[in-house]
Amino acid sequence: DQARAARRKIAVFDAEAYGDPASNLSLMSGMLRAIEDGHVELFYQPKFDLRRRGVHAVEGLVRWRHPVRGMLRPDLFIPMAEETGHIRALTDWCLRQAIVDQKLMAEAGHEIEVAINVSGRLLGDPEFADLVEVLAPQACGKLIFEITETAVIENPDLALTILDRFKAAGVDISIDDFGSGLSSLAYLKQIRGHELKIDRSLVVDLTQSQRDALIVRSTIDLAHSLGLKVTAEGIEEPDAFQLLAAMGCDQIQGYLIGKPQTLTDLMDFLRDDRGELKRFG
Ligand code: C2E
Ligand code: MG
Ligand code: MG
Ligand code: MG
Repeated sequence: DQARAARRKIAVFDAEAYGDPASNLSLMSGMLRAIEDGHVELFYQPKFDLRRRGVHAVEGLVRWRHPVRGMLRPDLFIPMAEETGHIRALTDWCLRQAIVDQKLMAEAGHEIEVAINVSGRLLGDPEFADLVEVLAPQACGKLIFEITETAVIENPDLALTILDRFKAAGVDISIDDFGSGLSSLAYLKQIRGHELKIDRSLVVDLTQSQRDALIVRSTIDLAHSLGLKVTAEGIEEPDAFQLLAAMGCDQIQGYLIGKPQTLTDLMDFLRDDRGELKRFG
């Protein structure tokens, strides 16, 4: 009986080594291969421009179509990719893909600003900046790096130098998740960016809470006085949309406008839904 239990345990263990999300090391060992095999994909979520009343910008959000585990969201593998250094290969790939996709959109008649998410980790990697200087000038439109701060930046001086190199290569800088844990005022003080994205946690109770509304309005005013464009993320309700428009917010992103989707779906969206989006304006 004991032997059978042990055998069963081994069998379960083997299955989990292949299929269990907790087994992150096995996930990471497959990441480079997944990139090569085309199992990693960029989905795109539209950003609605409140003044121009249309979608002229999108954000690329990475997805991993894992053959066993199904579609993996970035929260499951980005932190691990940062720890193992795989984030570099992943971001290189995202940058190349974004440039290719932006060209495809342009060829279909859509001039679209394309953002990718760039981990704070890469602000310590001068070789990534070398690549950006080669690739960014090849883009046919505006590229944006949303700086996602998932780890404390270890060398602020180096980070600022690298950010300057991105900007000199023509890339706009967006401060992502502003108002969430790590992305704070200290951050805003140091980074001279082009855009500030208000985190979903700040806008989720916007229409319910007078206090939250005051915080969001003050954040928009602060960003504007620093010369930053403001994008509110995670908007699901029409009331929040209207309120943010009244507060002078520049762009709205969220399920209300559109979910992250494949390039093909995004192109259909850009073609078909432009007119319908006008109802928001
Ligand atoms: P983020 O850049 O702040 O992206 C917004 C996240 O909120 C996305 O989740 C998006 O699907 C989700 N979202 C958008 N609109 C709504 C909404 O109306 N309601 C709700 N409930 N959620 C909404 P996703 O795609 O799972 O990405 C999670 C995070 O992973 C991103 O947060 C970003 O920090 C990171 N990430 C994604 N792709 C990359 C990448 O290529 N590199 C790096 N370093 N990080 C990435
Ligand atoms: Mg982002
Ligand atoms: Mg964000
Ligand atoms: Mg966020």
